[in-house]
Amino acid sequence: MQILRGRGLSRGFAIGPAVALRRELGAVYRITSEDDQVEAEVGRLTAAVEEIERELARTRQSVQREVGSELAGIFDAHDLILHDPLFLERIEDVIRGEKVNAEWAVQEVGADLGARFARIETAHLRERGQDIEDVVRYLLANLQKGAPQELGSRARGAIIVADELTPAEALRLGRLGVAGFVLEGGGEGSHTVIVARALSLPLVLGVREARNQVRDGAAVVIDGETGTVGLRPDPTEIAEAKLRVDHESSDLPEPEAGVGPTRTLCGAEIDLLSNIEILDEINVSLAARSDGVGLYRSEFLYIERAPELPTEEEQFAAFERLLCSHAPRPVTIRTFDLGGREIGRGFRESDEANPSLGLRGVRLTLTQRKVFVVQLRALLRAASVGNLRIMVPMVSSVDEVLLFRALLSQVRRELVEHGVEVPDSVPIGAMIEVPGAALIAHHLAKVVDFFAIGTNDLTQYTLAVDRNNDRVAGLYRPLHPAVLRLVDLVVRAAAEAGVEVSICGEIGGDPRATALLLGAGLRQLSMSPRAIHRVRERVAGLEMTGCQELWERACSCATAGEVERLLTS
Ligand code: PEP
Ligand code: MG
Repeated sequence: MQILRGRGLSRGFAIGPAVALRRELGAVYRITSEDDQVEAEVGRLTAAVEEIERELARTRQSVQREVGSELAGIFDAHDLILHDPLFLERIEDVIRGEKVNAEWAVQEVGADLGARFARIETAHLRERGQDIEDVVRYLLANLQKGAPQELGSRARGAIIVADELTPAEALRLGRLGVAGFVLEGGGEGSHTVIVARALSLPLVLGVREARNQVRDGAAVVIDGETGTVGLRPDPTEIAEAKLRVDHESSDLPEPEAGVGPTRTLCGAEIDLLSNIEILDEINVSLAARSDGVGLYRSEFLYIERAPELPTEEEQFAAFERLLCSHAPRPVTIRTFDLGGREIGRGFRESDEANPSLGLRGVRLTLTQRKVFVVQLRALLRAASVGNLRIMVPMVSSVDEVLLFRALLSQVRRELVEHGVEVPDSVPIGAMIEVPGAALIAHHLAKVVDFFAIGTNDLTQYTLAVDRNNDRVAGLYRPLHPAVLRLVDLVVRAAAEAGVEVSICGEIGGDPRATALLLGAGLRQLSMSPRAIHRVRERVAGLEMTGCQELWERACSCATAGEVERLLTS
């Protein structure tokens, strides 16, 4: 078997046929169809055309009503193209002739016609090329909603090989039953990695030219722990891989025996909490005997509904389920962390040159109040069924927390006025994931009830390393002494003010870092629920004095490498 090497970031082992996703033009992949799927692709095209026709008719009517029939005429050109049998027949011919997905065929025909129109000398005819571009855009937008591509029956059990995947794409592919992911790029702190962990699917990142090396449909073996991709396995290797997959899947979820708190050898009690992105993880969290939910990333409700926002009732149902399932244990729900580069850019039109430093998290909450009032209503309405804590992402100033509190109080007042039962107070916490927030933690501690240290972003912002960017992946080091020093500041500020503090970045679930985190003074670690078992085992073997010494030595290190070596020595 030929081995390709990458970085393994989501445990697990899988074997399956490779499906290479080629995103060559914009966000369109070329996917070859099985013979029996070709007509289904034509059907998707027809359905998309019909829906666009209906939409155009609606738009034309309202434009006519509001602006007049002259302007409404601009839609006639779009209609003509959509009804032009030559245009549609050409797309169908490509779907059938090349056995490809509808998106790809639309893109190809659109590009070809666009190029021909560009060569026409008569200006007004040349401009008609713009109408074709518009129609192609409508078609692609319509075809692409739902699953990133219609892999149909090919998705189940497949190993998806792609350049990059957004968290939403990974989630949708996971729901279609894929067995694992191999990505050419991607950063280890990305939400795509977090999604793969949540779905318990192996993921290997940073495998250069992976799509050129795999053959579509041929078996590949991937190991998410060692970061290897095996090509052309022989029959013995295939049989061994299948045995291993069966063995590993029977391991999950971890059955946890016994009750009682998790303690170190010297008796210190440590809370092990779950990070949850999708509600299916509730069972894993319960099976792992978590001490509650330390982070529920509520923006995943949006990912699953995009481009629509989840309604108040949908959010209420999700929050209620989380709270009931873990009651009386605490459930910390983070308000939408939308904006930024990865999640929910489609939530609003954004032309930000640098979205990671732009309107993200609480900044967006405070500018898009209507959206967040819906969320806060859902949260407060669900609060009485369990032990709710509300957490605010991307805080960088005391003012943001105060404004957030004011918004929450206003929503609370309105609910109470309408006779809704709402607890007198709900603990409010700030995520500490911006260096500035860590530096003013002693001030923030006066206006919040708890802190959660988000080392995924804290690392990105402290070291100025995009957590998604493969090219700087080597610089993304959560154990960098600069990050540790900020963690130290936050834990000390929390202790002095008597507010609780937890850590919920990915480092919280890495058993190699457990001693270090306890040494820092942390007593609450929040992680993927599948990591709890291994961290609990690790905690049980630790003495606090050793952990504290380790922490002191780590804080005086000059480089991340030195800290990492300390942990393995
Ligand atoms: C973090 O930044 O560490 C965190 C937990 O939040 P997210 O990974 O969702 O940005
Ligand atoms: Mg974060």
